[in-house]
Amino acid sequence: MLTNKEFWIGLDDTDSPEGMCTTWLGARLIRDLRAIGYQIHEARLIRLNPTIPYRTRGNAAIAIRAFGDPDIAFAHACSLVNRYADMRCEKTHPGVVVADEQLPSDFYFKAVTSVCTIPEAEELLSKNARAWKGFKLGRGLIGAAAAIASVLPDFTWEYLAYRDESRWKTPRQVNPESLFISEEVTTPYTWDTIDRSQNSVVCVPHSSDPVLYGIRGDSPFAVVHSVSCIRSEPYPWGQIWLTNQGTDAHLLWGKIGSLKEWASYRVIGTVLQQPITGIGGHVSLVIGDEGGELTCMAFEPTKRFRQEVRSLIPGDHIIAVGSFLNGTLNLEKFCLCSIERDEYKIAPYCKACQKQMTSAGVGKGYKCRKCGAKSVSPEIVTREREILTGWHEVPPSARRHLARPLIREKEEHWEDSFQNIT
Ligand SMILES: [Zn+2]
Repeated sequence: MLTNKEFWIGLDDTDSPEGMCTTWLGARLIRDLRAIGYQIHEARLIRLNPTIPYRTRGNAAIAIRAFGDPDIAFAHACSLVNRYADMRCEKTHPGVVVADEQLPSDFYFKAVTSVCTIPEAEELLSKNARAWKGFKLGRGLIGAAAAIASVLPDFTWEYLAYRDESRWKTPRQVNPESLFISEEVTTPYTWDTIDRSQNSVVCVPHSSDPVLYGIRGDSPFAVVHSVSCIRSEPYPWGQIWLTNQGTDAHLLWGKIGSLKEWASYRVIGTVLQQPITGIGGHVSLVIGDEGGELTCMAFEPTKRFRQEVRSLIPGDHIIAVGSFLNGTLNLEKFCLCSIERDEYKIAPYCKACQKQMTSAGVGKGYKCRKCGAKSVSPEIVTREREILTGWHEVPPSARRHLARPLIREKEEHWEDSFQNIT
């Protein structure tokens, strides 16, 4: 007997580095369910903890809120996973979950900021879910459950265009010029389509999955407007996802000395040494507080961001943001809260002769070689700082899916600027 009701269905861990994409499977499921009379009320793309080592690629899970028969939807989702998930990949362990209502939100918060285990997911599901199935190790049950448990105090949207199956694993045809136009038309309401400073395309993946491109933005209208400007190969369908991308949902406030591996933090500290550029162009920065010292890294792929890190000097107060891995914080962005004066000492100038004095010997001050005038103290010269206070972030090509781009800050500043005008 059919039971038509509202329900949630979640999917995770169907992809591999060689292909497939959980969002494609979710979008396919949405299309199939619609075709047999289901109503789709919401389609969520949920990113989970980006630092977990056994994730397959972007650590994305999906959850769909629908109206129709939940058991038929579950059976169909399982058959899609059987048919399309990349089961040969040793890291791919899909999960499908159906629930009559959202699952407890603390499971989502744990999955996005920390690490959940498969037994924890199974325990949650046995108490709260209607049906679930793990394939192979069933690690995808974690993401599928977390996506259904997700709460979105902040959210963004992404339009994903999916390629025709006959074109998978062939080079993507997307007109780059149209992407630049698309960005120009819809910025700041969309982001990460291109990287203007590097003149490069960001929204078209290089992997062999079914995604043609993805447009991220503030609203469904903004992303669709952006898509309307893009010229590309023909593709059968796209899907607008509601997502936790670009919201900093993975960040916790942390204190130096008590950070945990595989979590991502905002940490307040003072720059202790001049940043160092190491082998491969990676830049390291040491900050500290009363709890100790913390090494922060800006790796080579973060490109021009490294120059901003190099511009920091001892004494600067910053909020460092990034993932804590192997004892170092891998920077996603930082806020320069208060700027230290960049001062250095030189020998003073003689007031009479206008000539620079020279050292009169260790601890003896300075002496003018021409008239013999003496001075005890050096002259303090202030170098102009190359960096401004406020936030500095990695370029779009190096950005984490979950990292909130600074372009989104406009919303908070909008009222201020309005007051300045009136
Ligand atoms: Zn002199």
